[in-house]
Amino acid sequence: MASVSIHPALDGGVKPGSASFSGGTLVCACADRPVKVAIKGQVAHNHACGCTKCWKPEGAKFSVVAVTAHENVTVLENGDKLAVVDPAALILRHACKGCDVHMYGPVERDHAFKGLDFIHPERFQEAGWAEPGFAAFVSSIIEAGVDPSEMDGVRARLKELGLEPYDCLSPALMDYIATWVAKKSGVLKG
Ligand SMILES: [Zn+2]
Ligand SMILES: [Zn+2]
Repeated sequence: MASVSIHPALDGGVKPGSASFSGGTLVCACADRPVKVAIKGQVAHNHACGCTKCWKPEGAKFSVVAVTAHENVTVLENGDKLAVVDPAALILRHACKGCDVHMYGPVERDHAFKGLDFIHPERFQEAGWAEPGFAAFVSSIIEAGVDPSEMDGVRARLKELGLEPYDCLSPALMDYIATWVAKKSGVLKG
């Protein structure tokens, strides 16, 4: 089972985050003029994601992606290298034009996730970021080319790593989105 690769930062076991982590600097993969983005505070809802939109390192089946409030994100250096991957997408992923690493992705549209930025904690130059707690959009890795026959092994390995596999987001996040929709429509008061 350990032979099923999920992501280089997780394949050796999920490393617990540190309660004292107070933020750090995300650095892209460029050797020359790397983009640096400061993140204030610990990240939230960190998870492995199998969707085809998230940035992932070469060969990884999953990304590692978390959120932080938009006001915690500050571009420190070489922001001129950033470009939005898809201006029509919900998450406005800002990628480095030199190395393609996604540095931060704000949600600006009217949505439950508005005000949050999606980031990849593995790009922190510091250790201690909160470990991933589940795996989202697991079935979507097939869309990226994984053979469907591998899925049982992938889900078993995710469970072994303590990352419960879901084919959308986790129940907590799906409930969060549905609550926002219900309040917006008026079905749910308060
Ligand atoms: Zn770069
Ligand atoms: Zn994703």
